[in-house]
Amino acid sequence: SVASGYRGRFAPSPTGPLHFGSLLAAVASYADARAHDGVWLLRIEDLDRPREVAGAADAIRRTLHAFGFEWDEPVVFQSARLDAYDAALARLDALGLVYGCGCSRAEIAARARTGLEGPIYPGTCRSGLPTGRRTRSLRLRTAADPIDFEDRIQGRQGHSVAESIGDFVLRRADGLHAYQLAVVVDDAWQGVTHVVRGADLLLSTPRQIGLQRALGLSTPSHAHVPLALDDRGRKLSKSLAAAPVDDDDPLPALRLAWRLLGQEPLDDAGSPRAFWRRAAAIWRIERVPPRSSVSLRTEPEIG
Ligand code: GLU
Repeated sequence: SVASGYRGRFAPSPTGPLHFGSLLAAVASYADARAHDGVWLLRIEDLDRPREVAGAADAIRRTLHAFGFEWDEPVVFQSARLDAYDAALARLDALGLVYGCGCSRAEIAARARTGLEGPIYPGTCRSGLPTGRRTRSLRLRTAADPIDFEDRIQGRQGHSVAESIGDFVLRRADGLHAYQLAVVVDDAWQGVTHVVRGADLLLSTPRQIGLQRALGLSTPSHAHVPLALDDRGRKLSKSLAAAPVDDDDPLPALRLAWRLLGQEPLDDAGSPRAFWRRAAAIWRIERVPPRSSVSLRTEPEIG
């Protein structure tokens, strides 16, 4: 039934129940996929076993179901995809783009300048491990040229990875594959054409595009949904955005998310199913504000 070629996805990490901030990203991603007659996929990003909360993956699926989301293919679990991440690492290594790094976090912090997202790796092990050191993590040799992209909500974005983060980690000292690598491998494998996700990942996108180019993969289109702010301009993450949503009462949270996404109100939809039928027809990504400044007269109860 679906011939548009659009493939979108929602990729939560099972570190707890679905909270309002993630719901906002899920609503935007789902509405955009359905508005394009596209396929929508669910991927559980359970790479980081130590940070995983038991039962969270099931709870997230239950919540999405209660909120009327329907995924079109079986759920993909990143924990079952480790061989694919190793294969991508091997490919990057064969291209001479991977090196072993022996630095500890404290050593890096002591020597590094601070970039957009913390310390910029100073390149200590780039031309070989210092004597007596063993490999802790594996890093990507990044190029200096800026990586720009056109975001459907945020407009023109980008930066030089080398100047903002530096050679970043592909496999961590604890042996886990990095999110940046896994997300690129899986988006390509699942044929994702449109990434719609939270603006907290905006700064990751140039790293992911760099990896896509290195691996010869195509880059999906991007839309980064604003983080919800309250009417004093504070991030909602501390209160509302971090609040788990209520499976037994999905409509208030759906309506609020819709409002924060700048869409025409759908306040009369009486069920999630009715909500989505209308939502898919009226979704306009052009209406989503790059920064959410929607004024909430009262902080609504959503869960
Ligand atoms: N798993 C990531 C998160 O929950 C999202 C990954 C993505 O959408 O690219 O923050």
